[in-house]
Order: sequence, then C-alpha cells, then structure tokens
Amino acid sequence: MPKSFFIDLTKCTACRGCQVACKQWNKLPAEKTVQRGTHQNPADLSVHTYKLVRFSEKVEGGKVKFVFFPEQCRHCLIAPCKEVGDGFVENAITQDEKTGAVVFTAATAEFSDDQKQEVQEACPYNVPRYAKGGGPMAKCTMCFDRLAEGMLPACVKSCPTGTMNFGEREDMLALAKKRLAEVKKGKPKAQLLNPDDINVIYLVEEDPKFYHEYAVAEADLPGSMTRKQFFAKVFRPVRSLA
Ligand code: SF4
Ligand code: SF4
Ligand code: SF4
Repeated sequence: MPKSFFIDLTKCTACRGCQVACKQWNKLPAEKTVQRGTHQNPADLSVHTYKLVRFSEKVEGGKVKFVFFPEQCRHCLIAPCKEVGDGFVENAITQDEKTGAVVFTAATAEFSDDQKQEVQEACPYNVPRYAKGGGPMAKCTMCFDRLAEGMLPACVKSCPTGTMNFGEREDMLALAKKRLAEVKKGKPKAQLLNPDDINVIYLVEEDPKFYHEYAVAEADLPGSMTRKQFFAKVFRPVRSLA
C-alpha cells in the first residue's frame, strides 16, 4: 500500500510555509518575480518551484471570498507522465513500489524538448516543468530522500494548521472521508478530488475550478471506463512499442 497526502484545504491559511520548506529542502534557487497584484508568488510552477500556493478570489453576495491551493504533483497510482516517458527513455521516470512516489530522474534530460512537452501534456494536472534547451524535467519528489530516513515530507512537516497530512494510503483515505463528512454538514459542495486515482488527496469546499484550473482531472472517459482502465488502455501500448 503506497503512501498518500491528505490536504485539507478548509484549514489552509496561505502562510506558504510548505512552499518555502520545499525550496529549502530541495535547495532550489529563488526566482525573480514581480508584483502582479496577487498574494500568489511566483506565478507558476517551474523547474525551481515544485510547490506553489495558488491564490484565487471572487466576490460573492457582496463579500470577497478567498481560496488557497497548495499545488504539487499528485503521484498518480498509474502515472500518465511515466507511461509516456517510458516510450522515450525507459525508467527515466520511476515509480517507487513502497511509497508510490513518481520521480523524474536525471535521465529525463535525455528527452528532446518535444518529448518533454508530450510528457507535460500527458499529465492531467499540468504539473511537470522543463527549461527549453536542456536539463532534466522537474516536479515534486514526495521527498523520497526524507522518507528513506523516516522523516515526513518537508512541506508536511512545516505546515502549522493541519492542512498537510501524510501517511499510509488507507489511513489518509480514512481521514479524508471523515473530514469530508464533517465539512459537508455546512458546505454541501465539499468533495475529495480524484481520491481513487492519486496519492495526493485534496478536500475542497467550493467548486474545484475556483481553486485552480487543473485542481481536478476530468478525463473524457469513453462509456463507463474508469480513469485507471482508460490510462491502462491508452498508455500501455506506448510502453510496449519502446
Ligand atoms: Fe505524473 Fe502529473 Fe501524475 Fe505527477 S500528477 S505523477 S507529474 S501525471
Ligand atoms: Fe516539495 Fe517534498 Fe512537499 Fe514534494 S513532498 S512538495 S518535494 S516538500
Ligand atoms: Fe497552507 Fe499549510 Fe502550506 Fe501554510 S503550510 S500554505 S497552511 S498548506
């Protein structure tokens, strides 16, 4: 049974401790940014930003409503990025059996820019990033190096509000379902985002699209196919051609 995150967005205050901790642990350089009239900074994920607290606002009933979305790779149970990447360089993208962590290795530098774009486009959550002209692709690693030493992911360790949780998948699913039942009493739109497909389970209390365009995967599934069946059918043949 892999590990999972449970990210309870009803508790997030956008303090960005998780974003800073991710930068610090992964020794990622700062990025030059400009004031864009929003609390969100920088504007997007990049090869130097694996975790980004997105910030959205709207006016509802004369009141301003804010929501925050600490974005990261979802560590999909069946990872479309890996399915596509394996068609170019086998195991340049790995998936750890014990934790479920999907990791982009240095070998992703061997992908051409077009191949990197294909890997990026395969991700239903628009997560992987690359710099044009060379270098490996990059995204959240699940802090597999910390896990190997018995430590929590840096973002989870730093979160002061209980938004970020991490542990055995069955425990995180149970916690997520318990919190969903509680939150739904006052917020009927509350839902878990793709909990059966991914190891990063978000609880939202509003329309997921309000949080982020790619908060939830909406695969256009033929018939009654599940996403798992869909990815197995569409991407397995790519790997077998390699
Ligand atoms: Fe790959 Fe995207 Fe899934 Fe992360 S969220 S494992 S980058 S497909
Ligand atoms: Fe960053 Fe590690 Fe959290 Fe992933 S698990 S977002 S790499 S701190
Ligand atoms: Fe939200 Fe926790 Fe990240 Fe702060 S550290 S932005 S509360 S998830």
